[in-house]
Amino acid sequence: MQKLYLGVDLGGTNIAAGIVDAEGNILCKKSVKTNLPKPETYLEKDIFDLCYSLCEENGYDLNKDIASVGIGTPGSVDGKRGIVWSNVNFGYTNWTVKENLSKLFTVPVYIENDANTAIVAEVMAGNAKGCKNALVVTLGTGVGGGAFIGGEIYAGHNYAGLEVGHIVIEMDGRQCNCGRKGCFERYAAASALTRDAKVAMEANPNSKMWEICPDIEKVNAKTAFDAYKAGDAAATIVVNNYIRYLATGLVNLINIFQPEVLCLGGGVSNEKEFLLDLLKPYVDAEDYARNAAERTKIVIAKFRNDAGIIGAAMLGVNNA
Ligand SMILES: [Zn+2]
Repeated sequence: MQKLYLGVDLGGTNIAAGIVDAEGNILCKKSVKTNLPKPETYLEKDIFDLCYSLCEENGYDLNKDIASVGIGTPGSVDGKRGIVWSNVNFGYTNWTVKENLSKLFTVPVYIENDANTAIVAEVMAGNAKGCKNALVVTLGTGVGGGAFIGGEIYAGHNYAGLEVGHIVIEMDGRQCNCGRKGCFERYAAASALTRDAKVAMEANPNSKMWEICPDIEKVNAKTAFDAYKAGDAAATIVVNNYIRYLATGLVNLINIFQPEVLCLGGGVSNEKEFLLDLLKPYVDAEDYARNAAERTKIVIAKFRNDAGIIGAAMLGVNNA
């Protein structure tokens, strides 16, 4: 029988678990409410119960059919020792999750920061498969990042590395939650594009963005792109500005890491080839290695909605 892996995406609202094959296909999944705040031992029991019932309901034996359990969690995580040093959302510090869960599960348990699980998924079974050096940048509510360097997850000395959303791309620019001004994510996150689209709509009552989305509260990252494709002038300015900022941050990262592949994930990456085509002229003009024989390939991440579950499960493949 093929090897199967359990992946758990531990979020502040839901705990989602899935059984995943070595190619990154989800065979079945289930989720429960996280119901925070609660003590660590209660959450550990909930994770085990969720995995156990998922297996039982789908005809799998947790002890025989599953090779490992991987968990992706927010916070600063020492993946090698399986310790969450700090998870502000959960209120946990020094959570020895691997040791504790290993008393419940008979199979190996792995844990990583959830941005790092995204890069593991892409490198093990996604659009950076087989790469020794690759980056993932997710364009969602914020801008997140994960790196695989020399065949290993790069977490930084204190496990807080690759906070790519908080590199400054505009000095004295927009105020960021982290305390700096002009951070990459204040310009390149899906939420930044949404905000810019709303500002442009309010200043341009005739913009096609109003036809595409009459309720300004429902504007999202897609609205400006759709209006741009329809030839709307205001949306064209919004998207062109967005692309310039996004390209600036991405070229900064390329110039530091020169990865083989850079995968774009998150809501904005739903624009797929259209997004890549808009980025290309800026990256081609600014990449320090633009004349090199081997250049960084920018691609769209393979794993989308269930990337958290798949990436967590792939921790087992990475450690196999
Ligand atoms: Zn910041």
